[in-house]
Amino acid sequence: MERNPAKGVNLLSECIFCRIIRREIPAQIVYEDEQVVAFRDINPVAPTHILIIPREHIASVAEATPEHQALLGQLLLAAPRIAEKIGIERDNFRLVINTGADAGQTVFHIHVHLLAGRPLAWPPG
Ligand code: IMP
Repeated sequence: MERNPAKGVNLLSECIFCRIIRREIPAQIVYEDEQVVAFRDINPVAPTHILIIPREHIASVAEATPEHQALLGQLLLAAPRIAEKIGIERDNFRLVINTGADAGQTVFHIHVHLLAGRPLAWPPG
């Protein structure tokens, strides 16, 4: 596993989302299955702000390979299931994947932001 300062800390042992998966640091987990874990963002920007992540550490979409095709699909397909589970509309949310520091990625373990509960402007900032 690499440690590239430009991409943040990527060591599995130090990745904050890997630590959440391992229950080493607390998180409000709202959904999990064999491949995917979802928990509430610690700094929500909408009334509902969930992060959907793969159990496998992949730093970003740019690091994903064709082997990850099904897993990436599972992240998206989890979204309406999570919405139903937490009691929000299953067809009224925004999914965001920031990829790279200039696009706003701060944690280098792939995550899909699920945002809902307020009108969301377009284009994003
Ligand atoms: P990014 O900026 O797209 O990489 O999103 C990273 C997200 O992770 C941000 O929205 C942070 O608020 C969130 N975050 C960082 N640390 C934690 C944590 O320990 N628990 C839950 N969310 C976190």
